[in-house]
Parts: sequence; C-alpha cells; structure tokens
Amino acid sequence: MREIVDGVFEISLGYVHAHLVVTDTGVVLVDTGLPGRSAEFGKGLREIRRTIGDVTAILLTHRHPDHVGGLAELRRRSGARVVAHRLDAPAIEGAPAPSLTPLQRLLAKVMKPAEAAPVDEMLSADGATSVPGFTAVHTPGHTAGHVSYLLDRAGGVLFAGDAAAGNGRKVRRSPGVMTEDRAEADQSLRRLAALDFEVVVFGHGKAVTDGAADKFRTLIN
Ligand SMILES: [Zn+2]
Ligand SMILES: [Zn+2]
Repeated sequence: MREIVDGVFEISLGYVHAHLVVTDTGVVLVDTGLPGRSAEFGKGLREIRRTIGDVTAILLTHRHPDHVGGLAELRRRSGARVVAHRLDAPAIEGAPAPSLTPLQRLLAKVMKPAEAAPVDEMLSADGATSVPGFTAVHTPGHTAGHVSYLLDRAGGVLFAGDAAAGNGRKVRRSPGVMTEDRAEADQSLRRLAALDFEVVVFGHGKAVTDGAADKFRTLIN
C-alpha cells in the first residue's frame, strides 16, 4: 500500500487500484478492486493499524467488476454505507449491465463477475456527499453513472476512477474499447479540467501528485 498524500493510500490489485482514505469519521474506501481480492484491504488496514470495522463508507466510481469486485464482502464485513450514482446502482445491485462494448461482452464470458450488493445512497446530483470532505462530480461516458470524487485535502485530491487514466506523469483517456460513450467521456474530461485540484488518483495508471488539474487541461487542448 502506498501513501499518495496525507492519509490517502493506494492499494494495487493487479492492474487496478482502489483507495483507502483515513478521515475523522472513519476509513473511507473508494472502489473495491477485483472479485476475490478483498484480503488485500485487510492487509492494508493492518498496515495503518485499523480494522475492517473502521470502514464507515464505500464510495464507488462506477459499476465495472474491477471496481466493485470486493464490494459485497467488504460491505458485509464492515457494515459500511455504500454510495454510487443512481444510473450505475442497478447493475451493482445485480441487474444486467445496461450496455456493454463488444470487448466487455467477451470479457464478461471469461471474467468472474462481481457479487451483487445493495447501494445505500444513490447520487443523482453533483455536490457534497454524506461523507464529510468528499464532493461528487458526475462524469458519464465510461459508464452512464460514472462519478469522480473530489476530496478537500492537500490542495484537492481527485478520485477519477476510469474517467481518465494515469500515464507516467501525465493523464490519458480511458481506452475507447471500454468506454460506452466517447463524446460524453470527453465532455466529462472538460468538466474535470475546469476544477481545481493538485492530486489525482486513478483506477488504472500512476497517480499525479502535483499540478494534476493542469494535466487534464493539457489533455483536452
Ligand atoms: Zn471501468
Ligand atoms: Zn477499471
């Protein structure tokens, strides 16, 4: 587990990251990684002398199995409140995914699906969430209900999920083959580029720890 900035930790689960944030009101997880890998969270929590019972909220960026894979088990074991956008919530709760790209249809045949889990709080508008310090920004395109979260810490920490990806010290678009609506995804990148934040972490690729919003501006221009 790597500390990106004060109290914000990155857990790498193969090719995908999840994040763990220590706050005054408990530990907050942003995404939950791949199915069958939730032991990594226990290990990460032990490293910072916390337990699963300290996790009070799980913020989800979107419904893809590499982000909600550990959700059912982590929710069960922690009793944490689960937050997701209302457009991605049905698939997280077990409804068939509303749309899959051809590559995702292929992957769905070979990949272990995520166990369904209830969403306790459905987001439908931008703004403050029930988790202190976290603001939701609806960033559709990769999925219709993709949400990025902005944490008020260290000049602003953006949890971009798969709205974008890390690329060395730069920011790149998520692969088009995994994106539902590329025009909408670009519109979302413009929204993020208009915000102020110093740090960005991703579902995939390396975090950027300074001047992060500028990297989004460079990408869209
Ligand atoms: Zn995704
Ligand atoms: Zn992903």
